[in-house]
Amino acid sequence: MLEKVLIANRGEIALRILRACKEAGIKTVAVHSTADRNLMHVRLADESVCIGPPPTSESYLNIPRIISAMEVTGADAVHPGYGFLSENANFAEQVERSGFIFIGPRPDTIRAMGDKVSAIDVMKKAGVPTVPGSDGPITEDNQRTLTIARKIGFPIMIKAAAGGGGRGMRVVHKEEDLLGSIQVTQNEAGSYFGSNVVYMEKFLDNPRHVEIQVIGDGEGNAICLGDRDCSMQRRHQKIIEEAPAPGIPASVRADIVKACIKACQDLKYRGAGTLEFLYQEGRFYFIEMNTRVQVEHPVTERVTGIDIVREQLRIASGLGLSVKQEQVNLTGHAIECRICAEDPETFLPSPGKVNLYHSPGGIGIRVDSHLYSGYTVPPHYDSLVAKLISYGPDRDAAIRRMQNALEEMIVDGIKTNIPLQSRLMRDPGFRAGGTNIHYLEKLLKGSGSH
Ligand code: ADP
Repeated sequence: MLEKVLIANRGEIALRILRACKEAGIKTVAVHSTADRNLMHVRLADESVCIGPPPTSESYLNIPRIISAMEVTGADAVHPGYGFLSENANFAEQVERSGFIFIGPRPDTIRAMGDKVSAIDVMKKAGVPTVPGSDGPITEDNQRTLTIARKIGFPIMIKAAAGGGGRGMRVVHKEEDLLGSIQVTQNEAGSYFGSNVVYMEKFLDNPRHVEIQVIGDGEGNAICLGDRDCSMQRRHQKIIEEAPAPGIPASVRADIVKACIKACQDLKYRGAGTLEFLYQEGRFYFIEMNTRVQVEHPVTERVTGIDIVREQLRIASGLGLSVKQEQVNLTGHAIECRICAEDPETFLPSPGKVNLYHSPGGIGIRVDSHLYSGYTVPPHYDSLVAKLISYGPDRDAAIRRMQNALEEMIVDGIKTNIPLQSRLMRDPGFRAGGTNIHYLEKLLKGSGSH
């Protein structure tokens, strides 16, 4: 096993990684900004290094400072978590060039998957079904663009190849709006992502977001840990996730799992990854791959009993996967509610001091959170403060346990979306299962919320 891991992240995921390292007997180094001195994992780590002021460009996204911290502390590997530098191929490359281990895929894999056009191309060649689209970037040849668009059929989605975080996407309903919308999306993509490459995809009108968890050892062996439904979204951001995705026919699931495993074998994929799909009328359509651990990984851990972060650490240590595909058995149902420091009606962030924190518990409940009484949520970062994961022998049981947990949880001093999550657990649409990606926004509009 690795000896010392530097955790290049913050909040709940930094604590999650720290726990996995401690369990494996690996020493930990926390890096943090001046706003994050009081983070729980900073207190628990063997060593900690302050790497700069609150702005992420000067701390969590600052590659030289993180690599210096690795040198100073003698860490042998870095775990990037999710967000921040986790999908930055240049970071992975610089870590490796400096003689350290990057806990994640090879830099060239990150680069290939980070460009959605090339990711779609790779997956298509491996036999993974994709959304009908332009099969490459849009060129300056407008006639060609119009011909492709007619073939795809309207409505069409224009997407930035380098896009992420739900930005850089635009839907076009009519042919006369196409070229203008392409121009606007190109300009936006250029300023947000530093690349103005865009492509076209058929806009699916009522899909679900279903994703597949994979892990590869980097040598051509890969396993699949099943699927997750993450359709409960607001502004393309997930707020509830569950495993397994409700109502997917066994044969459809088996086919997609097979295709994903083959793609990872072909890529000699290293580490944990997620292939994201839209699912509509019994068919899967690949949209992108995330080359890191996901926020929602605990639901998969709960139904498979496999510790995904531990697998990441094993693979980075050169120990390979701990299980074979035949040993992956799914049981029961798990649901995750993201608890965010925000107003449950306006969704405005609500940072500040947590006067009292009480964590729920009981059978089938897991809480991944860095909160404690007296902790101050800083205003500079993502508003995610806790993940509540419930498990039950079936979906109804998991929902009931989640309802209890939400009622028990106390985060006093700041506003959180706990009331919204409680409402969703009672919502007949959610309870029925299988709602599409537009469901939550329609529900919120109907109730007069923004
Ligand atoms: P990002 O990298 O910004 O998360 P994705 O490509 O994963 O972008 O898409 C984010 C979300 O946008 C999806 O979960 C889905 O809700 C919506 N979306 C993306 N592509 C399409 C499409 N072709 N048709 C309909 N909705 C889409």
